[in-house]
Amino acid sequence: MIGGGPAGLSCALSYVAAGGDPRAIVVYERARYPREKPCAGGLGGRGEAILFALGAMPDVPAVPVSAASLQGRFGFRRVEPARNLPGGTIGRVVRREAFDGALAECARRRGIRIEEGCSLLALEEGAEHIHATFTDHTGLEKSLEFRTVVGADGVGSTVRKSLGLGRGLPYAQVVECDTETTPYDRPRDELHFDVEDRRYHGYAWDFPTLVAGAPAVCRGVYVVRWDGCDEVGVRDPGPLLEERLLRLGARPLSKKRKRFAERGWLPGTTISSARRLLIGEAAGIDPVTGEGIAQALESGFDAGKFLAERQSPARWSMHFAHSRLGRDLRLRTGGLAPFFGRSRDAVEALLLADPTLLDAATRHFAGLPLERAATAAALLRGAAAAAEYKLRRR
Ligand SMILES: Cc1cc2nc3c(=O)[nH]c(=O)nc-3n(C[C@H](O)[C@H](O)[C@H](O)COP(=O)(O)OP(=O)(O)OC[C@H]3O[C@@H](n4cnc5c(N)ncnc54)[C@H](O)[C@@H]3O)c2cc1C
Repeated sequence: MIGGGPAGLSCALSYVAAGGDPRAIVVYERARYPREKPCAGGLGGRGEAILFALGAMPDVPAVPVSAASLQGRFGFRRVEPARNLPGGTIGRVVRREAFDGALAECARRRGIRIEEGCSLLALEEGAEHIHATFTDHTGLEKSLEFRTVVGADGVGSTVRKSLGLGRGLPYAQVVECDTETTPYDRPRDELHFDVEDRRYHGYAWDFPTLVAGAPAVCRGVYVVRWDGCDEVGVRDPGPLLEERLLRLGARPLSKKRKRFAERGWLPGTTISSARRLLIGEAAGIDPVTGEGIAQALESGFDAGKFLAERQSPARWSMHFAHSRLGRDLRLRTGGLAPFFGRSRDAVEALLLADPTLLDAATRHFAGLPLERAATAAALLRGAAAAAEYKLRRR
């Protein structure tokens, strides 16, 4: 396993849970826990369910959330799909340093070896083995041979590059910072998205969080590009975030801005070979929202079982494309252009006028059953509105 984030760790845990021998796998992680990972930490019920199934939910401080809200050009809407359910939450906001460190600890307790400070440099696939070059925690270069290598090494994946795959589109630039709370913040049980600004393809967010145990707000801007998108938009989220902080009167807790990229899933990409397979953000995540923790956990969970069943890594690409997650990501990638492209006004107006779609998206994040007929009807209405809007603009 290359990479000890949610994808690599859930893959290792799932492999062992499915009867695989923990001594047969090693997780190589470039950093040391608690390692920093720029992330707003929004973990929905769908991701939580995987961790519960693995018996590996990290016991770390978190802010429980029960609602999502959308501010658009044409208004505002808040949905609370779990309102009448026991617990009433749709997920939680975690701090990734603590969360990933605790997940790694859990994997260690199951007998999984994690080599920290070990960075993969290169891979060479042979008929019998795959040859890997690393630098270890002392900085020394070493060579090892494996039967299979799982690329769970995130957005800059070395394993992905070794498969000849480029950076790829959709691709997003993201910047975030933690701020003090303000009197004008949304309630602390809410994940807030702001899609009002038309200067870029993407959105801004405000998520409740805890910094050193004290209430704070993680605010950020997500700017995405996809194949065929208009190039008129602003590409750099940095100035957009500074402007927004000023407008909200939100005081950052530090001068540091956490910048990172995110890779969306591109259907049709071959993400495995005879001895290599990609999971998590190395493969691609949801390009519309940039949600990636649940996707990393789900692909890791699936891949762990897949490997414990001794299936050939070459089949992973097809397996993933037809999995529940693969189908979901395909749908989402298809939603990028309608949502952030030329028909943005129409889709946004529909989302704000009719709560069904926002409710469905939030239910999906929360892992709650979808009201299928109503969602399908709302999707059809959305597609019709987008098509009509495009025609009128011609
Ligand atoms: C600013 C920002 C905000 C976000 N907010 C959210 C959110 O609120 N909710 C959500 O669901 N998602 C969010 N995401 C996305 C989410 O953080 C990622 O999709 C998720 O972490 C992917 O998990 P992963 O395990 O695939 O990769 P990662 O978490 O990136 O883990 C990859 C690991 O591989 C290691 N590694 C990399 N290269 C090597 C190498 N050569 N050798 C050894 N190890 C290596 C890295 O050190 C890292 O630990 C956000 C992303 C960003 C950038």
